Amino acid sequence: MEKKPPSVNDLALSMQNSGIPHELLVKEARLAIAEGDWESLEERVERLQRSFIQPVVNATGVLLHTNLGRASWGIPQSHFSSNIEFNLNDGNRGSRQTSIGNLFAQLCGTESAMVVNNCSSAVLLVLSALATGQGVAISRSELVEIGGSFRVPEMLELSGAYLVEVGTTNKTRVVDYQKAIEAHRNVAMALKVHQSNYKIVGFTEETTVEELSSLNLPLVADIGSGLLDSSCPWLSTGAPKWLAGEPAAKQTLQSGADLVTFSCDKLLGGPQAGIIAGKSDLIEKCLRHPFARVLRPGSHTLVSLQELALRYLHRDGDKIPFWRMACFREDELRLRAEKINAGEVTTMDSVPGGGTLPTVVIPSIGLKLPGDRSKELRRGVNGGLPIIARVQDGDTYLDFRTINPDHDELVAAALENLG
Ligand SMILES: *Cc1c(COP(=O)(O)O)cnc(C)c1O
Repeated sequence: MEKKPPSVNDLALSMQNSGIPHELLVKEARLAIAEGDWESLEERVERLQRSFIQPVVNATGVLLHTNLGRASWGIPQSHFSSNIEFNLNDGNRGSRQTSIGNLFAQLCGTESAMVVNNCSSAVLLVLSALATGQGVAISRSELVEIGGSFRVPEMLELSGAYLVEVGTTNKTRVVDYQKAIEAHRNVAMALKVHQSNYKIVGFTEETTVEELSSLNLPLVADIGSGLLDSSCPWLSTGAPKWLAGEPAAKQTLQSGADLVTFSCDKLLGGPQAGIIAGKSDLIEKCLRHPFARVLRPGSHTLVSLQELALRYLHRDGDKIPFWRMACFREDELRLRAEKINAGEVTTMDSVPGGGTLPTVVIPSIGLKLPGDRSKELRRGVNGGLPIIARVQDGDTYLDFRTINPDHDELVAAALENLG
């Protein structure tokens, strides 16, 4: 190492081909010099580059990988002004919720719907708009935590509603709800929360939506995962077997729920957002609550969701990347893996991920590379896209179900360079 440090500016200029703005390079150069380690600038700049949000190849076999943005869904380009709150029919001010809400109401077979930032927002808004200062009846088996920061009892507290716990951890019957409602009087609604990411097995009993709808209270079902219709009319091959038992918005509403809430980036396969769908008087209350403004999505999200909704209405599951990857046949995946001249073609188990369907695996095909090559792949071999692989028992696996076929050549090139 040189004894005398270079000037901050000269050092920063030495990395100007990186495409990083000069003032960020200056900051890194200053830090490198302060630590007496200015030769590390290139490595520092690479670390900075890798910290930016960028496309990656998901080769993990986790279809909805929470760390990789769950569903992969392209955000449409929008360098234009839009009629987000302008009614082109009459020239008056419009609502950003009306048109998209109508599309999702149609898809859920219900009266009305609205969009917020995610499913957590949907639950918070519903609780705040319908139950602040009042009780919400929930089974003790459904006081769940999802992804670390969504915890049902905390959401309730935040909304100003209070928890009326019903039944036991393993068994909750409709009479338990009736007793709890009589004992507390001021119960505003019943909330059924889908056990998305865990299962209770053994001596268990759950109350169905149908049974709960007899309670004479607004019934809200947080189904979480965002499956629209259990018969999957957008798939020419019908519903895959592994979806069995997953609650769907349309059937949950048909069974008597007054509202459902769900995420848009889980089984719906879209951008991060949340939907509230069901009875229009209840949606109206949600729309009027001040949180509706706090939790409203921007036009990029709405344009993107609108495109997704139209593909569902066209019954074009093949144009929804999540469903396309979920439905690849093993022989198609094998052909793709065999075409890449590296590693060993092997059977694998993909998983839905994203906190959905906790015990489900989907048979898949991948490539096995000896040893742990995950770090090199993650760094993007020869300037290619970062590839996120799975490491198991010291070997590296790339699952072709979650790799976009458009990226196969890129993966082939990376593996060739990896040697
Ligand atoms: C995933 C999930 C949530 C949280 O959804 P986000 O969109 O991640 O905020 C809430 N409830 C249930 C049942 C879920 O499965």
